[in-house]
Amino acid sequence: MRFLKTKLILLLIILFSTVTYSQRTILHCGGLIDGVSDKLQKEVSIIVENNKITDIKKGYISAVESDTVIDLKSKTVLPGLMDMHVHIEGETNPNRYIQEFTLNEADVAFNSTIYAKKTLMAGFTTVRDMGGSGVNTSLRNAINAGKVVGPRIFSAGKAIGTTGGHADPTNGYRHDLMGDPGPAEGVINGPWDARKAVRQRYKNGADVIKITATGGVLSVAKDGSGPQFAMEELEAIVKTAKEYGMITAAHAHGAEGMKRAVQAGITSIEHGTLMTEEVMDLMKKMGTYYVPTISAGKYVAEKAKIDGYYPALVVPKALEIGPQIQNTFAQAYKAGVKIAFGTDAAVFPHGENGKEFRFMVEAGMRPIEAIKSATIVTAQMLNISDKLGSVEQGKIADIVAVNDNPLDKIETMENVTFVMKEGKIYKSEDE
Ligand SMILES: [Zn+2]
Repeated sequence: MRFLKTKLILLLIILFSTVTYSQRTILHCGGLIDGVSDKLQKEVSIIVENNKITDIKKGYISAVESDTVIDLKSKTVLPGLMDMHVHIEGETNPNRYIQEFTLNEADVAFNSTIYAKKTLMAGFTTVRDMGGSGVNTSLRNAINAGKVVGPRIFSAGKAIGTTGGHADPTNGYRHDLMGDPGPAEGVINGPWDARKAVRQRYKNGADVIKITATGGVLSVAKDGSGPQFAMEELEAIVKTAKEYGMITAAHAHGAEGMKRAVQAGITSIEHGTLMTEEVMDLMKKMGTYYVPTISAGKYVAEKAKIDGYYPALVVPKALEIGPQIQNTFAQAYKAGVKIAFGTDAAVFPHGENGKEFRFMVEAGMRPIEAIKSATIVTAQMLNISDKLGSVEQGKIADIVAVNDNPLDKIETMENVTFVMKEGKIYKSEDE
């Protein structure tokens, strides 16, 4: 009997300890744009436990002693923002082209931690890195392990191009230094090279595959817009990537290269500068996303006017292509192409990603759609919308706040004052 009683008490203790609350963080939000509804909800409480949103309640709920309450009553709260086109390893400067020869991999790695932190502090809790040296993938691991402060990274590792194409790492070198880079370095010629390059990236731990379907503005090469892949190469890349569970992205300025990539089943077109109506229709049919990067276009067009900022071969391309992206975006948006937010941060300083919202709205997009393009739409594109992209019960607690209502004043997105990622607060300031 006595033994039974002890057992019962023990059982009660165990039961009781499991029903006690875990540490809760309660966010009292003046306004909430949750990523699902088109409306702003007023006076809402978000309850966060560990790394999850466990409840959302109307009004400002009262707290118990063990709760932490965050006062965001004067703010508008949003899901953590996502930028689908950044290069976290580097940043624009007039010495960029020489730095390939002066910076060690360790230098690049240390620099990248600064850019990662700036990106997170600007409210971007998730980014897709569209190509670097491989430091991007190591940085992702370091951030996931809690060693470095930064956004969640979906890394492409090193981008894939063809010989002399936009992603050929030896473009512009002295002939004896050019060598003959291959699939491991991201240069392919033919479908089997293409498959090998994708498999190599899978082996290296990449999350996504990035290709340069046409020439580019900032590579030291004459042509910025012609197609640079044969159809067989594109099909081999997309098909192999799908087999390994990876999405694909194609940098593209000219229409022919874009068209081929879309036909091959690419997940997204980046920049899309000279997109024609035919390409837009095809993208709608195939469900292809458009990642515009208006910010980068504007920035390069401006810097190209400064003597010596870019190499001579780059200047005319920057002046021609840069200013067109915003107009292309306006047309693609009107045509109903799916838009996923992306900036090409690195081409301009990291941390200024939020300006893209203003550029999108200037071009005719509704503010709520611009916000969704950087939250729920991007989460859908990355196949993570069951966990992220909105402020909903059960989702991972990536939450940011701005001072004003962005539906009335979109510029407020350039000044994120509160950042929570996976339930942990990284920035909390009143300005
Ligand atoms: Zn880029």
